[in-house]
Amino acid sequence: MYRLVYEKIPIVETARRCGLVLDSRTLGCLEVEASCPFCHDHGPGKYHLSLNTNTDQYRCNLCGAHGNSVSLYARLKGMSNKEAFRELSKEVKTYPFPQQPEPRNTERQPLPLEQRHAAYTDMLEHLTLLGRHRDNLLGRGFSPERIQENQYRSMPETDRSRRLLAALLRASGHDLLGLPGFRTYYGEWTVSGPNGFLIPVRNKDGLIQGLKIRLDDADSPNRKYRWFSSWGLPDGTRSYSWIHVTGNTASKRAFITEGPLKGDAASFLANDALFVCVGGVNAIHGLKDTLADLKVREVVEAMDMDQMTNENVRRVVLEMRREVQTIPGVKYFKYTWNPAYKGVDDYLLSRRVAEM
Ligand SMILES: [Zn+2]
Repeated sequence: MYRLVYEKIPIVETARRCGLVLDSRTLGCLEVEASCPFCHDHGPGKYHLSLNTNTDQYRCNLCGAHGNSVSLYARLKGMSNKEAFRELSKEVKTYPFPQQPEPRNTERQPLPLEQRHAAYTDMLEHLTLLGRHRDNLLGRGFSPERIQENQYRSMPETDRSRRLLAALLRASGHDLLGLPGFRTYYGEWTVSGPNGFLIPVRNKDGLIQGLKIRLDDADSPNRKYRWFSSWGLPDGTRSYSWIHVTGNTASKRAFITEGPLKGDAASFLANDALFVCVGGVNAIHGLKDTLADLKVREVVEAMDMDQMTNENVRRVVLEMRREVQTIPGVKYFKYTWNPAYKGVDDYLLSRRVAEM
Protein backbone atom coordinates (compact mmCIF):
# COMPACT_ATOMS: atom_id res chain seq x y z
CA MET A 1 0.00 0.00 0.00
CA TYR A 2 2.85 2.37 0.88
CA ARG A 3 4.65 1.50 -2.31
CA LEU A 4 2.25 3.39 -4.53
CA VAL A 5 2.41 6.46 -2.36
CA TYR A 6 6.20 6.31 -2.11
CA GLU A 7 6.66 6.46 -5.85
CA LYS A 8 5.07 9.88 -5.97
CA ILE A 9 8.00 11.41 -4.09
CA PRO A 10 10.47 12.71 -6.70
CA ILE A 11 13.97 11.35 -6.15
CA VAL A 12 15.82 14.51 -7.22
CA GLU A 13 13.78 16.65 -4.84
CA THR A 14 14.56 14.14 -2.06
CA ALA A 15 18.28 14.22 -2.91
CA ARG A 16 18.23 18.03 -2.62
CA ARG A 17 16.51 17.77 0.74
CA CYS A 18 19.26 15.40 1.87
CA GLY A 19 21.92 17.92 0.80
CA LEU A 20 23.41 15.64 -1.86
CA VAL A 21 25.68 17.16 -4.50
CA LEU A 22 24.14 16.82 -7.96
CA ASP A 23 26.08 16.85 -11.23
CA SER A 24 24.57 19.96 -12.86
CA ARG A 25 25.35 18.64 -16.34
CA THR A 26 22.86 15.82 -15.82
CA LEU A 27 19.97 17.93 -14.49
CA GLY A 28 16.92 17.43 -16.68
CA CYS A 29 18.13 14.02 -17.90
CA LEU A 30 16.28 10.80 -17.18
CA GLU A 31 19.21 9.77 -14.95
CA VAL A 32 20.53 12.53 -12.72
CA GLU A 33 23.95 11.81 -11.22
CA ALA A 34 24.91 12.65 -7.63
CA SER A 35 27.79 12.05 -5.24
CA CYS A 36 27.19 8.90 -3.21
CA PRO A 37 26.66 9.60 0.50
CA PHE A 38 27.26 5.94 1.39
CA CYS A 39 30.63 5.10 -0.19
CA HIS A 40 31.67 8.72 -0.88
CA ASP A 41 32.54 7.55 -4.41
CA HIS A 42 35.89 6.39 -2.99
CA GLY A 43 37.08 9.97 -3.50
CA PRO A 44 35.65 13.47 -3.87
CA GLY A 45 34.24 15.13 -6.97
CA LYS A 46 32.70 12.03 -8.54
CA TYR A 47 29.09 11.07 -9.17
CA HIS A 48 28.33 7.37 -8.86
CA LEU A 49 24.81 7.68 -7.51
CA SER A 50 22.20 7.51 -10.29
CA LEU A 51 18.80 9.03 -9.60
CA ASN A 52 16.20 7.66 -11.99
CA THR A 53 13.56 10.36 -12.45
CA ASN A 54 11.21 7.87 -14.07
CA THR A 55 11.08 5.25 -11.31
CA ASP A 56 12.25 7.61 -8.50
CA GLN A 57 14.82 5.04 -7.44
CA TYR A 58 18.49 5.56 -6.67
CA ARG A 59 21.43 3.24 -7.18
CA CYS A 60 25.17 3.64 -6.63
CA ASN A 61 27.21 2.07 -9.39
CA LEU A 62 30.17 1.73 -7.05
CA CYS A 63 28.84 0.41 -3.71
CA GLY A 64 25.45 -0.90 -4.89
CA ALA A 65 23.39 1.13 -2.38
CA HIS A 66 19.87 1.39 -3.78
CA GLY A 67 16.26 2.14 -2.91
CA ASN A 68 13.60 4.80 -3.35
CA SER A 69 13.10 8.36 -2.12
CA VAL A 70 11.74 7.29 1.25
CA SER A 71 14.46 4.76 2.01
CA LEU A 72 17.15 7.24 0.90
CA TYR A 73 15.85 9.89 3.25
CA ALA A 74 15.30 7.38 6.08
CA ARG A 75 18.81 5.99 5.82
CA LEU A 76 20.52 9.37 5.70
CA LYS A 77 18.49 10.76 8.60
CA GLY A 78 18.58 7.57 10.70
CA MET A 79 14.79 7.33 10.93
CA SER A 80 12.16 4.76 9.98
CA ASN A 81 10.61 4.65 6.51
CA LYS A 82 7.32 5.73 8.02
CA GLU A 83 8.89 8.77 9.68
CA ALA A 84 10.77 9.61 6.47
CA PHE A 85 7.60 9.39 4.44
CA ARG A 86 5.85 11.70 6.88
CA GLU A 87 8.66 14.30 6.66
CA LEU A 88 8.89 14.09 2.89
CA SER A 89 5.16 14.62 2.59
CA LYS A 90 5.60 18.04 4.19
CA GLU A 91 6.56 20.77 1.75
CA VAL A 92 9.80 22.66 2.28
CA LYS A 93 10.91 26.02 0.98
CA THR A 94 14.60 25.75 1.77
CA TYR A 95 17.19 23.06 1.12
CA PRO A 96 20.37 22.40 3.09
CA PHE A 97 23.50 23.66 1.35
CA PRO A 98 24.77 20.70 -0.75
CA GLN A 99 27.74 19.07 0.88
CA GLN A 100 30.34 17.11 -1.00
CA PRO A 101 30.77 13.84 0.88
CA GLU A 102 34.05 13.99 2.79
CA PRO A 103 35.98 10.75 2.53
CA ARG A 104 37.91 11.43 5.72
CA ASN A 105 34.77 12.08 7.67
CA THR A 106 33.02 8.82 6.91
CA GLU A 107 30.22 8.87 9.39
CA ARG A 108 28.08 5.95 8.33
CA GLN A 109 24.40 6.38 9.06
CA PRO A 110 22.42 3.60 10.77
CA LEU A 111 20.18 1.30 8.74
CA PRO A 112 16.43 2.08 8.80
CA LEU A 113 14.60 1.32 12.04
CA GLU A 114 12.83 -1.82 10.77
CA GLN A 115 16.15 -3.37 9.76
CA ARG A 116 17.85 -2.46 13.02
CA HIS A 117 14.95 -3.90 15.00
CA ALA A 118 15.02 -7.19 13.07
CA ALA A 119 18.78 -7.61 13.43
CA TYR A 120 18.89 -6.63 17.11
CA THR A 121 15.95 -8.89 17.93
CA ASP A 122 17.80 -11.84 16.40
CA MET A 123 20.97 -10.79 18.16
CA LEU A 124 19.29 -10.78 21.59
CA GLU A 125 17.92 -14.27 20.94
CA HIS A 126 21.47 -15.54 20.52
CA LEU A 127 22.64 -13.99 23.81
CA THR A 128 22.12 -14.89 27.48
CA LEU A 129 22.07 -12.93 30.74
CA LEU A 130 24.91 -13.65 33.16
CA GLY A 131 24.21 -14.19 36.85
CA ARG A 132 25.90 -10.98 37.99
CA HIS A 133 23.80 -8.96 35.56
CA ARG A 134 20.58 -10.67 36.63
CA ASP A 135 21.46 -9.87 40.27
CA ASN A 136 22.03 -6.22 39.36
CA LEU A 137 18.58 -6.06 37.72
CA LEU A 138 16.84 -7.85 40.62
CA GLY A 139 18.48 -5.30 42.93
CA ARG A 140 16.74 -2.53 41.01
CA GLY A 141 13.38 -4.08 41.81
CA PHE A 142 12.63 -5.94 38.56
CA SER A 143 10.81 -9.27 38.76
CA PRO A 144 12.40 -12.25 36.96
CA GLU A 145 9.47 -12.17 34.50
CA ARG A 146 10.03 -8.50 33.65
CA ILE A 147 13.77 -9.07 33.21
CA GLN A 148 12.86 -11.74 30.68
CA GLU A 149 10.23 -9.59 28.98
CA ASN A 150 12.51 -6.55 28.59
CA GLN A 151 15.18 -8.75 26.96
CA TYR A 152 18.26 -7.57 28.84
CA ARG A 153 21.30 -9.54 27.73
CA SER A 154 24.99 -9.70 28.57
CA MET A 155 27.53 -8.56 26.00
CA PRO A 156 29.47 -11.53 24.63
CA GLU A 157 32.81 -11.42 26.44
CA THR A 158 35.27 -13.32 24.27
CA ASP A 159 36.54 -12.42 20.79
CA ARG A 160 35.42 -15.81 19.59
CA SER A 161 31.83 -15.41 20.81
CA ARG A 162 31.67 -11.89 19.36
CA ARG A 163 32.78 -13.07 15.93
CA LEU A 164 30.37 -16.00 16.15
CA LEU A 165 27.48 -13.65 16.92
CA ALA A 166 28.29 -11.54 13.87
CA ALA A 167 28.56 -14.65 11.70
CA LEU A 168 25.17 -15.96 12.92
CA LEU A 169 23.48 -12.66 12.08
CA ARG A 170 25.04 -12.55 8.63
CA ALA A 171 23.99 -16.15 8.03
CA SER A 172 20.40 -15.10 8.84
CA GLY A 173 20.65 -12.45 6.13
CA HIS A 174 21.16 -9.34 8.28
CA ASP A 175 23.20 -6.46 6.94
CA LEU A 176 25.86 -5.50 9.48
CA LEU A 177 27.12 -2.52 7.48
CA GLY A 178 25.01 0.24 9.01
CA LEU A 179 24.19 -1.62 12.23
CA PRO A 180 25.59 0.35 15.19
CA GLY A 181 27.82 -1.85 17.37
CA PHE A 182 29.18 -3.99 14.54
CA ARG A 183 32.50 -3.50 12.77
CA THR A 184 35.18 -5.44 10.94
CA TYR A 185 38.54 -6.39 12.36
CA TYR A 186 41.02 -7.23 9.59
CA GLY A 187 38.08 -7.97 7.34
CA GLU A 188 36.14 -10.16 9.76
CA TRP A 189 32.86 -8.95 11.28
CA THR A 190 32.63 -8.66 15.05
CA VAL A 191 30.96 -6.72 17.87
CA SER A 192 32.39 -3.61 19.44
CA GLY A 193 31.93 -2.37 22.99
CA PRO A 194 32.85 -2.90 26.62
CA ASN A 195 31.56 -5.79 28.74
CA GLY A 196 28.31 -5.22 30.56
CA PHE A 197 24.67 -5.79 29.86
CA LEU A 198 22.57 -4.55 26.96
CA ILE A 199 19.42 -2.48 27.38
CA PRO A 200 17.10 -2.36 24.35
CA VAL A 201 15.99 1.21 23.55
CA ARG A 202 12.54 1.06 21.96
CA ASN A 203 10.17 3.42 20.22
CA LYS A 204 6.48 3.66 21.12
CA ASP A 205 5.67 0.59 19.01
CA GLY A 206 8.24 -1.52 20.83
CA LEU A 207 10.75 -1.53 17.95
CA ILE A 208 14.38 -1.63 19.05
CA GLN A 209 16.01 1.58 17.85
CA GLY A 210 19.38 0.90 19.41
CA LEU A 211 20.92 -0.46 22.60
CA LYS A 212 22.68 0.94 25.60
CA ILE A 213 25.37 -0.92 27.52
CA ARG A 214 25.47 -0.81 31.32
CA LEU A 215 29.24 -1.11 31.79
CA ASP A 216 30.77 -3.56 34.25
CA ASP A 217 33.77 -1.31 34.77
CA ALA A 218 33.03 2.37 34.41
CA ASP A 219 35.82 4.98 34.35
CA SER A 220 33.67 7.27 36.44
CA PRO A 221 30.24 7.09 38.12
CA ASN A 222 28.86 9.40 35.39
CA ARG A 223 29.93 7.08 32.62
CA LYS A 224 28.18 3.87 33.57
CA TYR A 225 26.18 3.77 30.34
CA ARG A 226 27.30 3.88 26.76
CA TRP A 227 25.52 3.51 23.43
CA PHE A 228 26.13 0.27 21.55
CA SER A 229 28.05 1.90 18.71
CA SER A 230 30.97 1.26 16.38
CA TRP A 231 31.52 4.86 15.38
CA GLY A 232 34.91 5.60 13.79
CA LEU A 233 35.89 1.91 13.56
CA PRO A 234 36.42 -0.02 10.29
CA ASP A 235 33.00 -0.52 8.68
CA GLY A 236 31.48 0.82 11.89
CA THR A 237 28.33 2.88 12.36
CA ARG A 238 27.41 5.65 14.74
CA SER A 239 24.47 5.48 17.10
CA TYR A 240 22.06 8.28 17.88
CA SER A 241 20.72 9.16 21.33
CA TRP A 242 17.39 7.53 20.65
CA ILE A 243 14.44 8.20 22.93
CA HIS A 244 13.18 5.14 24.83
CA VAL A 245 9.47 4.56 25.44
CA THR A 246 8.42 2.08 28.14
CA GLY A 247 5.18 1.23 29.96
CA ASN A 248 1.56 1.62 28.94
CA THR A 249 1.58 3.66 25.73
CA ALA A 250 -2.21 4.19 25.93
CA SER A 251 -1.68 6.26 29.08
CA LYS A 252 -2.59 9.95 28.94
CA ARG A 253 0.26 10.80 31.30
CA ALA A 254 3.96 10.39 30.49
CA PHE A 255 6.88 10.73 32.88
CA ILE A 256 10.19 11.99 31.50
CA THR A 257 13.39 10.69 32.94
CA GLU A 258 16.97 10.19 31.92
CA GLY A 259 18.22 6.74 30.93
CA PRO A 260 16.32 3.73 29.56
CA LEU A 261 17.09 1.39 32.47
CA LYS A 262 15.89 3.93 35.04
CA GLY A 263 12.69 4.33 33.01
CA ASP A 264 12.12 0.58 32.69
CA ALA A 265 12.58 0.12 36.44
CA ALA A 266 10.41 3.07 37.42
CA SER A 267 7.66 1.97 35.02
CA PHE A 268 7.70 -1.55 36.43
CA LEU A 269 7.60 -0.27 40.03
CA ALA A 270 4.75 2.13 39.22
CA ASN A 271 2.38 -0.42 37.64
CA ASP A 272 3.50 0.14 34.04
CA ALA A 273 3.26 3.92 34.12
CA LEU A 274 4.37 5.41 30.78
CA PHE A 275 7.97 6.62 30.83
CA VAL A 276 9.74 8.49 28.03
CA CYS A 277 13.47 8.35 28.59
CA VAL A 278 16.07 10.65 27.08
CA GLY A 279 19.53 9.25 26.45
CA GLY A 280 21.14 12.02 28.44
CA VAL A 281 20.37 15.60 29.37
CA ASN A 282 22.10 16.72 26.21
CA ALA A 283 20.05 14.32 24.10
CA ILE A 284 16.56 15.76 24.10
CA HIS A 285 16.32 15.82 20.30
CA GLY A 286 13.17 13.96 19.27
CA LEU A 287 11.55 14.23 22.69
CA LYS A 288 8.86 16.63 21.58
CA ASP A 289 7.91 14.49 18.55
CA THR A 290 7.82 11.34 20.67
CA LEU A 291 5.49 12.95 23.20
CA ALA A 292 3.27 14.42 20.49
CA ASP A 293 3.02 10.98 18.80
CA LEU A 294 1.96 9.36 22.06
CA LYS A 295 -1.00 11.69 22.33
CA VAL A 296 -0.46 12.28 26.04
CA ARG A 297 -2.25 15.06 27.91
CA GLU A 298 0.10 15.37 30.86
CA VAL A 299 3.87 15.32 30.99
CA VAL A 300 5.53 14.86 34.34
CA GLU A 301 9.21 15.66 34.67
CA ALA A 302 10.97 13.09 36.84
CA MET A 303 14.65 13.85 36.29
CA ASP A 304 17.17 13.06 39.02
CA MET A 305 16.87 15.29 42.07
CA ASP A 306 20.51 16.38 42.01
CA GLN A 307 20.32 17.67 38.43
CA MET A 308 19.37 21.21 39.20
CA THR A 309 22.59 21.75 41.15
CA ASN A 310 24.71 21.53 37.99
CA GLU A 311 24.42 24.76 35.97
CA ASN A 312 24.78 23.11 32.54
CA VAL A 313 22.29 20.38 33.33
CA ARG A 314 19.90 22.93 34.76
CA ARG A 315 20.01 24.92 31.53
CA VAL A 316 19.24 21.84 29.42
CA VAL A 317 16.39 20.74 31.68
CA LEU A 318 14.87 24.21 31.45
CA GLU A 319 15.24 24.11 27.67
CA MET A 320 13.53 20.71 27.62
CA ARG A 321 10.71 22.09 29.75
CA ARG A 322 10.18 25.03 27.37
CA GLU A 323 10.24 22.68 24.38
CA VAL A 324 7.66 20.27 25.84
CA GLN A 325 5.44 23.13 26.93
CA THR A 326 5.02 24.18 23.29
CA ILE A 327 3.06 20.98 22.52
CA PRO A 328 -0.56 22.12 22.27
CA GLY A 329 -2.95 20.75 24.88
CA VAL A 330 -0.27 19.23 27.10
CA LYS A 331 -0.01 20.10 30.79
CA TYR A 332 3.44 20.04 32.32
CA PHE A 333 4.20 19.09 35.92
CA LYS A 334 7.31 18.46 37.90
CA TYR A 335 7.35 15.30 39.99
CA THR A 336 8.91 15.76 43.39
CA TRP A 337 9.80 13.15 45.95
CA ASN A 338 11.92 12.79 49.03
CA PRO A 339 15.30 14.19 47.94
CA ALA A 340 17.05 11.52 49.97
CA TYR A 341 16.42 9.40 46.88
CA LYS A 342 18.37 10.53 43.84
CA GLY A 343 16.28 9.03 41.05
CA VAL A 344 12.58 8.34 40.61
CA ASP A 345 13.41 4.62 40.40
CA ASP A 346 15.21 4.74 43.77
CA TYR A 347 12.24 6.48 45.30
CA LEU A 348 9.69 4.04 43.87
CA LEU A 349 11.81 1.09 44.97
CA SER A 350 12.00 2.41 48.53
CA ARG A 351 8.24 2.74 48.56
CA ARG A 352 7.79 -0.79 47.23
CA VAL A 353 10.13 -2.16 49.91
CA ALA A 354 8.26 -0.23 52.60
CA GLU A 355 4.97 -1.80 51.47
CA MET A 356 6.33 -5.33 51.76
ZN1 LIG B 1 28.11 4.38 -3.30
